[in-house]
Amino acid sequence: MSLNAESTAFRSALEVIRAVEPRVADAIGAELADQRESLKLIASENYASPATLLTMGNWFSDKYAEGTVGRRFYAGCQNVDTVEALAAEHAKELFGAAHAYVQPHSGIDANLVAFWAILADRVESPALKKAQVRQVNDLTEADWFALRRELGNQRMLGMSLDSGGHLTHGFRPNISGKMFDQRSYGTDPVTGLIDYDRVAEAAREFKPLILVAGYSAYPRKVNFRIMREIADSVGATFMVDMAHFAGLVAGKVFTGDFDPVPHAHIVTTTTHKSLRGPRGGMVLCGPELADQVDRGCPMVLGGPLPHVMAAKAVALAEARRPDFADYAQRIVDNAQALAEGLLSRGTKLVTGGTENHLVLLDVSGYGLTGRQAEQALLDSGIVTNRNAVPQDPNGAWYTSGIRIGTPALTTRGLGTAEMDQTAELIHTVLSQTTPGESKAKYVLDPALADKVSKQATELLAGFPLYPAVDLG
Ligand code: PLP
Repeated sequence: MSLNAESTAFRSALEVIRAVEPRVADAIGAELADQRESLKLIASENYASPATLLTMGNWFSDKYAEGTVGRRFYAGCQNVDTVEALAAEHAKELFGAAHAYVQPHSGIDANLVAFWAILADRVESPALKKAQVRQVNDLTEADWFALRRELGNQRMLGMSLDSGGHLTHGFRPNISGKMFDQRSYGTDPVTGLIDYDRVAEAAREFKPLILVAGYSAYPRKVNFRIMREIADSVGATFMVDMAHFAGLVAGKVFTGDFDPVPHAHIVTTTTHKSLRGPRGGMVLCGPELADQVDRGCPMVLGGPLPHVMAAKAVALAEARRPDFADYAQRIVDNAQALAEGLLSRGTKLVTGGTENHLVLLDVSGYGLTGRQAEQALLDSGIVTNRNAVPQDPNGAWYTSGIRIGTPALTTRGLGTAEMDQTAELIHTVLSQTTPGESKAKYVLDPALADKVSKQATELLAGFPLYPAVDLG
């Protein structure tokens, strides 16, 4: 029997790798087996297409290509130019953006590029102006001192971490929390929803240079039109980090007030979450910020990864196909079915449901910490991650929440009926787990964990992952 193209490609690649370091080839094979067997509910993960994966394993990875298309610091970048321009073109078309910068290696990197661009655009600094027009040799020590002082301590207002914001939106463990004078807006303690009047009030009081919207663990839509009005009312630059929900924007599930691109001055994203591309980041903006954004490398980024930019071009081309819109809608349908399934079994959900790809369980209703719940689910073949809930009494390490998301299972083809079965499996595990003597310890009958694990495998059996890939 002749093998299909995907199987031939991956088998051949593993054979070549095995001849050098067999343990790496084995680990790659084992990773596929693990991914095939586990019920992956990590809201930030997905399964990139074979075409996207294969695009990353080639000689583009050997190239240095600092600079931008047509303006490189190295000779011989004509083919890198081709793929970078293609990725940017697809991104602009897909999201309706005037400018796309596809070099960031990750979401955090994309945010750093955006912060730089906003600071360079907004901060009144004569020394910075000199530096920008490449008169750096004319700058005195006093100029450099002034430049550092003028760039420092600028104000950022972002969504609080325990309401679902991201570390890079001004929080201490990230450089944004050290560079910026940061305040946050939370969610309403009763509804769990963003209260736009409170955001406006915080903005009026604090007068931020940057207003950031976007989240890692907020299960609702955000009205970007209102957020832009708030930013405008205090003269702030409005930045949206759509890392989590870029696939829903690409698939036109989030349109109008809920599409950040027409409303924000600058939009950052990852390419590997709901967008289903390679691991990486991207920045979209209008012409005003484009020049500064394009300085991302070497301003804050290391040399571009041309093999990943090529894979971004492939994945973005996939996202422009009509079936991606269907995929994006199914992500949300599945998340809502999962939320319904959990609610009907008595699980507490932050905000009482979802409008996007993720659901945030408050597992204190089961008497558990997030850490205990996460491990008990893992023992039962269900992969999730613990997450703080608003005003979490257990803090960011143990937490009281479990975040789950549907982009990955939707890629496998699971639908709303399977989401109800998934809710049943989750509820079974959590209701049968009891807390142990510490916030990390718990008691779960191994026979039950084993039974649920088998049920999860059976559920997945009807939806093979990478069905065209047979490693033999
Ligand atoms: N921004 C948001 C909203 C995220 O949720 C994440 C990752 O989880 C990031 C940025 C960082 O992305 P990366 O891990 O690619 O740096």
